[in-house]
Amino acid sequence: LNRKGIHCTLPQAPLPNCARCGKIIYPTKKVNCLDKFWHKACFHCETCKMTLNMKNYKGYKKKLYCNAHYFGEKLRTKKKPTGAATA
Ligand SMILES: [Zn+2]
Ligand SMILES: [Zn+2]
Repeated sequence: LNRKGIHCTLPQAPLPNCARCGKIIYPTKKVNCLDKFWHKACFHCETCKMTLNMKNYKGYKKKLYCNAHYFGEKLRTKKKPTGAATA
C-alpha cells in the first residue's frame, strides 16, 4: 500500500488554545502573537487589562502589556546596578 497517496480525508486542524484562558479559539477570534494564540478578548495588558491589538501591544517575557506597563515592567524587573554612583 502506498500511504502517501491518501488524501481523501483532510484531518481537521486542531483549534489552538488561548494562551491566557486555555480555551479553544475559533479562527474569527484568533490573535496570533508572541508565538501563541489569544482570544481577541484575552489580548489585553497583563497589568491594567486594557484591550490591546496588534498595533499597540508590547510583548515582554511572553506576556502582553500596554505601552505604559511595558516600560513599567521593564524597569521593575531590571537588574539594579550594584555599587554604582559614589561621587
Ligand atoms: Zn482566551
Ligand atoms: Zn497596562
